[in-house]
Amino acid sequence: MTDITVNISRVKQQLPSSVKLVAVSKTYTADNILEAYNTGHRSFGENRVQELVGKRELLPPDIEWHLIGHLQSNKAKFIIPFIGLIQSVDSYKLLKIVDSEAAAIGRIVDCLLQIHIATEETKYGFTLAEIERMADSAEFRSLKNVRICGVMGMATFTSDREQVRKEFRFLADCFNRLKNNYFMGNSSFKEISAGMSDDYEIALEEGSTIVRIGSRIFGPRK
Ligand SMILES: *Cc1c(COP(=O)(O)O)cnc(C)c1O
Repeated sequence: MTDITVNISRVKQQLPSSVKLVAVSKTYTADNILEAYNTGHRSFGENRVQELVGKRELLPPDIEWHLIGHLQSNKAKFIIPFIGLIQSVDSYKLLKIVDSEAAAIGRIVDCLLQIHIATEETKYGFTLAEIERMADSAEFRSLKNVRICGVMGMATFTSDREQVRKEFRFLADCFNRLKNNYFMGNSSFKEISAGMSDDYEIALEEGSTIVRIGSRIFGPRK
């Protein structure tokens, strides 16, 4: 057994069976991904379109790919035909582009709305108020080729565990408000994607349903 196969089974043992693990493979090789794949794991996350598309060509077709990083509008068309879940929809403009690209090929694409929960200013994402404004509009409700499956967030990069917990709790509050006020009739709206290698235990305690774990599985990034 290799480090990767040991690590991924160790992580999986710590997750409740209702929680989905996305193995974040950005910067690691296709061979590394294949090692994890050969344990039976199928969900992998990448943050760049080019890297994702390049690796996909080298790997088995039954991998479920998640995009977890900012998507530039002009690159959406490269992933729309196959992407399993776009976790990082961070603007209404992008959502509309994903919808129209998906409509063009007759697909319905699963999306999460990324909410800015961290104190750092560089991270992408909606505010709750922006999502509420969007969800109020008739145009939003007319989008037929995106399926909004929940929310995603990244906590501040800090050793302050209480700060991280507060941010994950806020993400869950946002999810609940949106569910109750706008997505009650949408049974697909059920996911909270929160938690990475260093904070997923906290995220699970605060209601996460999807964790995105990279270095804990594949080793330190170079
Ligand atoms: C890189 C990344 C992760 C995984 O980070 P690790 O610390 O390696 O687990 C999770 N989510 C997003 C959005 C990322 O960019």
